[in-house]
Amino acid sequence: MTDRPASGGIVLRDLVKSYGDHGAGGRPALDLPELTIPPRSFTVVVGPSGCGKSTALRLIAGLETADAGRIVIDGVDVTDLPPGRRDLSMVFQDFALYPHMTVAENVSFGLRMQARHDRRRGLAARLTPRVGVGAGASDAATAVSAARVGSPVSPAAPASRAEIAEKVRQACALVRLDGKEQRRPTQLSGGERQRVALARALVRGPSVLLLDEPLSALDAQLRQHARAELVRLHREFGCTAVLVTHDQLEALSMATHLVVLDGGRLSQAGSPQEVYSRPANTFVAGFLGSPAMNLQEVKAVEAVAGQPAGVLEAPGLRARLSPGGREVPAGALLLGWRPADGVLADGGAGEGLGGDGLVSDGLVSDGLVLDGVVDIVEYTGDGRVLTCRSAVDGGSSWAVTVPAEGVFRAAGDRVRVRVAAERLHLFGPDGLRVPVDTAAADARLGQTVRA
Ligand code: ADP
Ligand code: MG
Repeated sequence: MTDRPASGGIVLRDLVKSYGDHGAGGRPALDLPELTIPPRSFTVVVGPSGCGKSTALRLIAGLETADAGRIVIDGVDVTDLPPGRRDLSMVFQDFALYPHMTVAENVSFGLRMQARHDRRRGLAARLTPRVGVGAGASDAATAVSAARVGSPVSPAAPASRAEIAEKVRQACALVRLDGKEQRRPTQLSGGERQRVALARALVRGPSVLLLDEPLSALDAQLRQHARAELVRLHREFGCTAVLVTHDQLEALSMATHLVVLDGGRLSQAGSPQEVYSRPANTFVAGFLGSPAMNLQEVKAVEAVAGQPAGVLEAPGLRARLSPGGREVPAGALLLGWRPADGVLADGGAGEGLGGDGLVSDGLVSDGLVLDGVVDIVEYTGDGRVLTCRSAVDGGSSWAVTVPAEGVFRAAGDRVRVRVAAERLHLFGPDGLRVPVDTAAADARLGQTVRA
């Protein structure tokens, strides 16, 4: 039954889950050949609605049964274990509170049941910590758990009333419900009820905490606070946390490990910085980041004698980079760049637009040069987002963010944007990232400049 990998955390292997014929076009709702959630990480699973995030979480919790595959938590194969024996707790998207209990009673319910249980069974019962999630959303409230903070096998005496009260106070303070402990769920806003559900999971100190869009009901300011609090709480407790969200900003800001799902499949996993700076495919490139990465169709220019290789073109666009490791595939390529990586030429000497206002056909020094006409200007407080169209054919549209204090650009203005070579992303016709060797591009640039 046990399968102990060198590291702990959560390992999903060949995991497949279909919901009969109901799934998306007969495809499994989830199909994960291999996914590792590092021990003690704050892993965020992100993806658009319906991509299988909740399914993944419910499989880990044991609330759904996989069609195939294994789930290993901290070295123990839990695939066949009931939810209550997986030492985890979960906050559901559609949680349920006891309407007749106060906030404090809802939060403390599991602890009180556990204490009563411990008193009856004596200390021996505590040697095996039992942390449960119920068989469904409403049963989560009845889940009985040991408040496991620290060693899972420390045979603590049954928690006293004072200890439980202190834990409840801390949990309520954590989610900013202090002062509202004596209210009933009907006297709370939707966001406050969500926070009670969060406090109820946190108060139990499980070794794995599963959170299904736990912050979505909070208003923007509270969500910001709750994000930071969750991250701090995770750091202090050292549990393995898996949070599911469709909000890419939330994902980037909270995760120590990021997992991007698309249509039930793993699109990319890694540190937020890795995934953001080196998206593996066009889906990840377009999904993470706001405003979204610009993806523009370009053609590779045939290498001719006297011309540098690695030149890409589109109307009003010229770029140079050096594909390394992988041939630039024939066919349509997508050149990606983030709006914040674009720098406006200020129109000063040498950098203004030429007479025709187009990218000259001379050598591009390196990176990308792009000419456009401003279409929409959006003020964001610390900057502006300029949405532009190609200056040549008005076709492709792209966005660049500029500092608010810079020269003001209005709709109709012509702009030239440069993007450094190392900030460019290239994707093949299959949508996969084409590794770009910017060091080689720099070297070749040196030669052509000297020639
Ligand atoms: P997410 O949480 O990412 O929005 P889900 O995991 O809830 O996605 O759902 C993934 C897919 O499985 C969706 O196509 C959804 O319609 C389908 N699905 C989820 N739960 C069920 C269910 N109980 N019965 C049938 N289909 C389901
Ligand atoms: Mg969901």
